[in-house]
Amino acid sequence: MRDGILVINAGSSSIKFSLYLSNSDGKPMLSSKGQVEGIDVAPHFIAQGPDGTVLSEQRWPGDSDLHHEDLLKHLIDWVEDHLDGAELRAAGHRVVHGGPKYSTPVLVDDALLAELESFIPLAPLHQPHNLAPIKALAKVHPGLMQVACFDTSFHRTNPAVAQTFALPRGLTEEGVRRYGFHGLSYEFIARRLREIAPERAAGKVVVCHLGSGASMCAIKDGQSVSSTMGFTALDGLPMGTRTGTMDAGVVLYLLQQKGMTPKEIETLLYKRSGLLGVSGISNDMRVLLESSDPHAAEAVDLFVYRISRELGSLSAAMGGLDALVFTAGIGERSVPVREKVCQAAAWLGVDLDTAANAKNGPVISTAASKVPVFVIPTDEEMMIAKHTRSVLGKLSQAAE
Ligand code: ADP
Repeated sequence: MRDGILVINAGSSSIKFSLYLSNSDGKPMLSSKGQVEGIDVAPHFIAQGPDGTVLSEQRWPGDSDLHHEDLLKHLIDWVEDHLDGAELRAAGHRVVHGGPKYSTPVLVDDALLAELESFIPLAPLHQPHNLAPIKALAKVHPGLMQVACFDTSFHRTNPAVAQTFALPRGLTEEGVRRYGFHGLSYEFIARRLREIAPERAAGKVVVCHLGSGASMCAIKDGQSVSSTMGFTALDGLPMGTRTGTMDAGVVLYLLQQKGMTPKEIETLLYKRSGLLGVSGISNDMRVLLESSDPHAAEAVDLFVYRISRELGSLSAAMGGLDALVFTAGIGERSVPVREKVCQAAAWLGVDLDTAANAKNGPVISTAASKVPVFVIPTDEEMMIAKHTRSVLGKLSQAAE
């Protein structure tokens, strides 16, 4: 019988899902996707086919007192009715934090869940929302195997020097260190690059994941050696609403001189900064690029400047650069951002092909470019489906 794998990516106000059914070769293929959004306000369920055709939609009034579990039950009932003869074998979850320990996806049991809860202080804004559907699913579908796939795992190959802050050792040992995020996206891209350009993928590659959350990763022979995000997903590049790297002294200033509370500082750093904070207009790159306001241009310039600086830094960490890859919302679609970044990277041997860039690639550098530049769409959900399938495969091998 064909396998069905449900992928769940849960955030603070929405649960996104993708259903993968195996084809005749056993490969997972996207069958449907959708989300429940507005969970605590007025829930809205939508399911779509791979091409975006709406298959089902339901809205509940704001005062309907529905819990997480009720909504997940609705989702799983819909999924079970749309398996097309396949058997639902497992759910794979995106979990932001696997701590210093988990370098691969793992099967969820009570002990693991307790351990993942102990990482909540490391990612208080994301981890609880990632764990909620795991717990709810265990109640509404107790027999279903669940696999946790971590955003931090791919970076566990980073050398100690790339994972350590210059803090007293005790804090490092306690877990105050650089973890890195967006790992499922980077892993997907590393595998895809190996298919498209194997000789480059065997070398030194920098991937720019530029979405509303943005980071960059240095990948050497398929393994992460350094990335721009650190202890939290606040580090590195300025993002839609997050600061990116900032002198820690600013936080002291806000606390001591401005009398701000930790909660106010958290909101400032995560929700009111980045492209939105600098432009005063929007966190959306499309809006900024279309605006004639000089503050919008300043925000775009700062974004490009930080990417260019990090490109130098990550290349230094690897001792060179053999390929550059753009991915995620801005990376896959923004012609002007890629153009500015590539122009600033001329010193590294990047030569942009403007016509190819205008068509969004897949290769946007000239034949003469020392460093080829690729645009590769990322697919974190597919990566989770593949990981979940391989955890199941290992389990059935062990049982034989
Ligand atoms: P997330 O990090 O939420 O998964 P995405 O990878 O989908 O985000 O990226 C979303 C961002 O991509 C939007 O905030 C928007 O700024 C940007 N974006 C999408 N399309 C374009 C485009 N054509 N040009 C510039 N930016 C774009």
